[in-house]
Amino acid sequence: TDFDINRMIKTTILTFEGTCSAKGLSFDLVLTGQKLYVHGDMSKIQQVLYNLIDNATKFSHNDASIKIETSIKNEKVLISVKDSGIGIPAESIKKIWDRFYKTDLSRGKDKRGTGLGLAIVKEIIQAHNEHINVISTEGVGTEFIFTLPLAKKEVQS
Ligand code: ATP
Ligand code: MG
Repeated sequence: TDFDINRMIKTTILTFEGTCSAKGLSFDLVLTGQKLYVHGDMSKIQQVLYNLIDNATKFSHNDASIKIETSIKNEKVLISVKDSGIGIPAESIKKIWDRFYKTDLSRGKDKRGTGLGLAIVKEIIQAHNEHINVISTEGVGTEFIFTLPLAKKEVQS
């Protein structure tokens, strides 16, 4: 089905209001156009967004900002979730997609989770024949970027 990814981003961040006010986090949304229709499994993509934003909030320091950006490149929509949190050590970067893997930095008391979120994300993106990439620097922050097909022209408003 086709759905508006900008709208999905806006509704998904609402579910993090509690965590965000507790930690002083804010979202910086940089969205292309008003509505941006993509093609995909709506509930699965909702899960992808939720898992990425959940990580960004969990691994951010207090009072930080999380940037979520949409853009269009060659009939593809790029969705980026970028934080300025603890980052991922270079030697861990390939393993984060594995089930139950957590970096040493994320095993602290307030860093709950079983290490399944990104394995699910990867599976969903691959099932869509799309791509997801991560750019991260330990101690600086992390950005996840995934692609989705742009919906056909007549669907865009
Ligand atoms: P779950 O998602 O099951 O609640 P989790 O968040 O620990 O648990 P994943 O989402 O699969 O598991 O992420 C795996 C690991 O990758 C995390 O434990 C953390 O070490 C690292 N990681 C993922 N996203 C980030 C991020 N934005 N910043 C820093 N580290 C991250
Ligand atoms: Mg997670």
